[in-house]
Amino acid sequence: MKSFFRKKQMVPGVYSIAGEAVMRYLIIGEHHALLFDTGYGFGDLSGFVKSLTNLPLYVVNSHGHIDHAGANFQFKTPCYMHPADMEVYRHHQTQDFRKAGWQALNKIQRIFFFWRLLIPKGYTLAQYLANPVSDNFLPVREGEVFDLGGVTLRVVEIPGHTPGSIGLLCPEKKLFFSGDGMNGGVWLFLPESTKLSVYCASIQKVQKLDFDYILGGHSAEMLPKAVLDDYLDVAQNLDFEHGRVMKPTTYTPDIQYRMCRSAENPKNKATVHISAEKL
Ligand SMILES: [Zn+2]
Ligand SMILES: [Zn+2]
Repeated sequence: MKSFFRKKQMVPGVYSIAGEAVMRYLIIGEHHALLFDTGYGFGDLSGFVKSLTNLPLYVVNSHGHIDHAGANFQFKTPCYMHPADMEVYRHHQTQDFRKAGWQALNKIQRIFFFWRLLIPKGYTLAQYLANPVSDNFLPVREGEVFDLGGVTLRVVEIPGHTPGSIGLLCPEKKLFFSGDGMNGGVWLFLPESTKLSVYCASIQKVQKLDFDYILGGHSAEMLPKAVLDDYLDVAQNLDFEHGRVMKPTTYTPDIQYRMCRSAENPKNKATVHISAEKL
């Protein structure tokens, strides 16, 4: 049977797992594997991961959002999350928020009807709402290291998108997994997002780390580290005045925000989605 999830080898021992419009990563070492993010929890992710590796598994969340931590309940082991994101995780797992998430994905599916299914065929909202809310967590903080055997992943705190966003640095493969913490169109307008200056400091911190490619939470492309220069340029030279006023999201119907570009460098395509109060 064709699987709902799709895997792709990024480099030997590192797979992206696509499905539900979010990207997870599975990193396989000699004696452990690590899954970075779980997704909404519509499909059988745990079964899919088992088809790829039998090794004992660490499950780590980049942050607490509905599209990254919703399938945690499928795993028997505790999941690792930064304590600063526990509150947003609980909020995102409420019935009302799950309904909003369901609506948002269905809306995306209607617009991009030619995409693969974002929700498995026949899977219902009632099934989704009945998923248990996992409370089986262990905290992770800056500098903690997951040793998988021959490959390690070090936790890097990157507050901005959410207060407890983390990235994982893999020195052996020279990769940095960023979740939603930094990308070409970062969302900083959410109630839980930090001020823009905190996000700028996170980028500058990651720029000092030794790696070649960055892998994000919604795109399976490995981007060269130099993209961080563009992300920092737009964050530091944000043209809020000329920013495009966006329609409020399903999740945050009361928040007005703009998609802003760099005031200094018109060739820079990176954007920051931000509200006035986060400037
Ligand atoms: Zn997010
Ligand atoms: Zn996300």
